[in-house]
This record gives sequence, structure tokens and C-alpha cells, in this order.
Amino acid sequence: MSETKMDLIEKERTYLMIKPDGVKRSLAGEVITRIERCGLKIVALKMFWATREQINEHYPKDDGWLKRIGEKTKVNYDRYGLDVKSLGTEDNKEIGLMVRGWLLDYLTSAPMIKMVIEGPHAVDLVRKMAGNTIPAQAEMGTIRGDFSVDSAAFANRDKRAIFNVVHASETPEEARHEIGFWFSPEEIFDFEKTDSTIYKIDRAK
Ligand code: GDP
Ligand code: MG
Repeated sequence: MSETKMDLIEKERTYLMIKPDGVKRSLAGEVITRIERCGLKIVALKMFWATREQINEHYPKDDGWLKRIGEKTKVNYDRYGLDVKSLGTEDNKEIGLMVRGWLLDYLTSAPMIKMVIEGPHAVDLVRKMAGNTIPAQAEMGTIRGDFSVDSAAFANRDKRAIFNVVHASETPEEARHEIGFWFSPEEIFDFEKTDSTIYKIDRAK
């Protein structure tokens, strides 16, 4: 693999946001500790109160994303014996738009903490630490598995997003969009961590 490709892996960045439920439950320290403990580097961090316009720009708007969320929501309706017709539509895209609206309400309800995390395979590692979207399916040991008890059934019935403590970018592309949207380049720092040699071998010269 070329040096540049390796550099890209070493410096991969992802975006993590502690959602309002995480901030209100004082879980910020817990989340930050887990990221630092695994060896990843926090290179930007800020508490802020998002506007609806900002959250609208944060989440994708394309049909693919909306249909995927709509489909997931429908699967949860079936799994928990809820009648999807109570949403007023069975169309995946329209349901996706509805969940998007619920996310705007949720993520503007209290301050959040946003950060950029850097390190090898940062996107996949942080996703793994966050755990499955649905708390009951998130493994113990993950942030969502350990700290959220919300149910997709309650969330859907009450027409609100599932409260699951954190948001984490799913792909490097999503991370690039989110980091670029939430941070200016001067707010992201370049520094050496003292343990950054963890994946490097000192060879005899
Ligand atoms: P994530 O990347 O794991 O956060 O999951 P998604 O990108 O699929 O969804 C974004 C957010 O929408 C989730 O974190 C939840 O807060 C919410 N959400 C996702 N699926 C559902 C659902 O089926 N029902 C409800 N009520 N909320 C959902
Ligand atoms: Mg997502």
C-alpha cells in the first residue's frame, strides 16, 4: 500500500456528537474517557446549542438516506406490534422525512458536545464504540448498550427520535461532510499524542 494511503488511514477522522440526552445525563466525561482510553485522539471539541437549520444540514437529505430510515422505522413498527398506518403513510421516503423532523426536535432540545476524533480507522472504531442505533440491540460495553434504555416502540409511538446518547459518522464520506459542516479548519488541532508510537516499531538503525 502506498505511503499516502497509509497516512490517510493513520489520520482518518470521524465526527462524534454527544446528543442532548447524553449531555443532560452528564455522560460527557464517560464518552470522552472511552475515546481517549482506546487510544484515539480528540482533535476538536465544543459544547453548543444547535439550530434547526444546522441539524437540517447535518443529516443527509437524499432519497437513499430517507428511504433507509423509513424502512428501518417500519421494521421496528412490525417488530413491536405497532400499526405503521398510525403514521399516516406507509411510504419509506415520507416516513424517513418524518423521522428527520423528529431528529430536528430532539437535537435542538438542549446543548450538545461536538468533536472530531482522529486515528487509524477512526470511523469504524467510533461506530463500534457507539453501538447499534437501537439500545436493545446495542452490545453491552458500547456507549449505547451501557447507557441507553430507550425503545424504538416508545419513540415511534410518541413520534420522536430514539434517544441513544451519541451520533457518530457511519462512513468516511459522512465524516468529511459532518466535520466540514461543524468545524472550521482552525478549530481542528494538529499535535502529537505521547502514546502515538503504539502502532510503530522502533527498528535498530
Ligand atoms: P445512527 O447512525 O446509528 O445514529 O442511526 P441512523 O443514521 O439510522 O438514524 C439517525 C437517528 O435517527 C438515530 O440515532 C435515532 O435517534 C433516530 N432513528 C433511527 N431509526 C429510528 C426509528 O426506527 N425510529 C425512531 N423513532 N427513531 C429512529
Ligand atoms: Mg447515521
